[in-house]
Amino acid sequence: MFEYAPAPESRSIVDIKPSYGLFVDGQWIDGQVRDKTVNPANEEVLAEVAWATESEVDAAVRAARAAYENVWSTMPGRERAKYLFRIARIIQERARELAVLESLDNGKPIRESRDVDVPLVAAHFFYYAGWADKLGYAGFGASPRPIGVAGQVIPWNFPLLMLAWKIAPALAAGNTVVLKPAETTPLTALVFAEICQEAELPPGVVNIVTGAGETGHALVSHPGVDKVAFTGSTEVGRAIARAVAGSRKKLTLELGGKAANIVFEDAPIDQAVEGIVNGIFFNQGHVCCAGSRLLVQESVYDEVLASLKRRMALLRVGDPLDKNTDIGAINSAAQLERIRTLSEIGSEEGASRWSPPCELPERGFWFAPTIFTGVTQAHRIAREEIFGPVLSVLTFRTPAEAVEKANNTPYGLSAGVWTDKGSRILWMADRLRAGVVWANTFNKFDPASPFGGYKESGYGREGGRHGLEAYLDV
Ligand code: NAP
Ligand code: MG
Repeated sequence: MFEYAPAPESRSIVDIKPSYGLFVDGQWIDGQVRDKTVNPANEEVLAEVAWATESEVDAAVRAARAAYENVWSTMPGRERAKYLFRIARIIQERARELAVLESLDNGKPIRESRDVDVPLVAAHFFYYAGWADKLGYAGFGASPRPIGVAGQVIPWNFPLLMLAWKIAPALAAGNTVVLKPAETTPLTALVFAEICQEAELPPGVVNIVTGAGETGHALVSHPGVDKVAFTGSTEVGRAIARAVAGSRKKLTLELGGKAANIVFEDAPIDQAVEGIVNGIFFNQGHVCCAGSRLLVQESVYDEVLASLKRRMALLRVGDPLDKNTDIGAINSAAQLERIRTLSEIGSEEGASRWSPPCELPERGFWFAPTIFTGVTQAHRIAREEIFGPVLSVLTFRTPAEAVEKANNTPYGLSAGVWTDKGSRILWMADRLRAGVVWANTFNKFDPASPFGGYKESGYGREGGRHGLEAYLDV
């Protein structure tokens, strides 16, 4: 393996304040309770952040209601579009700062935050800005109405991107929002609040309340919220569905996944191996649509595995701010613990574990890229979401068997198919019960393309024209 000199991205571009308040009605308020957010790569404290209590959540929902009624829902779509375009442009202008901040707070490699997350965030705002004055042509009636105040709760794996997925369509459709970022990754959402101020967005249209699960609970159960949008675990999704049941609130849920990445014998193997690596090691495997179950046709199993192991030995694990890093830090001690526990269960249940030799930093939360072979469908590592850099490898003989194994999961968010034959891609895509099926690629995202799941992966779609439906009264 080549030795690389360190190539760190400078962190001087970000100016992290020692302490952040809550963004309510266009202003910063102090908040009574505070907690710290850390850099998972070295456990350094980055800032102190407020935890919104019930009364502060209430103030945010009231501000959103007033802004909805007095300003935002009555503003012509073309005027709303101007604000969204302005926000998109400021995100581009501050892209490097946002990428560095995201890598510091989340632990993801700068290469990904810089080349994937932040460009997609800007693209999302540009895309939905374009819809704001064309809602009557979106297929939901001639003059569809917004719903009202949206309460939005997001996870820590793509903090700013999940914010964009939630806020851009909501605002384009004429709703106002109160958003709660994840406890471990609040910082880019707080800079987004500054961007709203810079764009002179009317006060109350966007409110950001940081905090933990209780803050999220207070938000989704607030009677003044008309629409709840959640991305996160199936477990919390269930709790939210219960909290919302029987109310007039509309609900969309984007939950977990256990995607099959299916490699046929006629696939270009080198390309497929790149796709396998991208499918499970992108963002440390903290990806709801990660290709965490590899299904390989038996006839090419040895070849694929040998090639995959060679490739994995070249992955560079370490400093997220180093531009050569492929795999960064695990987001939190709690998530690391979960990955370790499930991996130990994998070994106990009889699967064989393998990782390339790699040195992990001493401080911070780290996990080496890992594969399990000899996995059966009954193993917990084949059924449960690990949400880390851990791949379970299974085999199949026929396309029908591949479909059956791929669909044998409570989830249904995504799948990948690697084959030379277009007809087989279509045949497979018809039969796979997954919201997204990638063909000869994986983890490709575009704001124009809808994303969402079947079964326990949730309901509703985000992205594209379909993503507007959740924010319109149709
Ligand atoms: P999580 O524990 O479900 O948390 C998600 C968000 O909900 C966080 O902001 C969390 O706050 C908040 N929350 C916790 N308890 C709540 C409650 N009772 N009421 C309201 N909100 C509550 O999930 P996570 O660990 O952050 O993220 C990992 C999971 O998200 C994985 O299962 C992954 O598959 C899923 N995910 C799905 C998608 C998708 O699009 N389908 C995308 C990304 C992630 P705290 O941060 O304070 O806990
Ligand atoms: Mg953090």
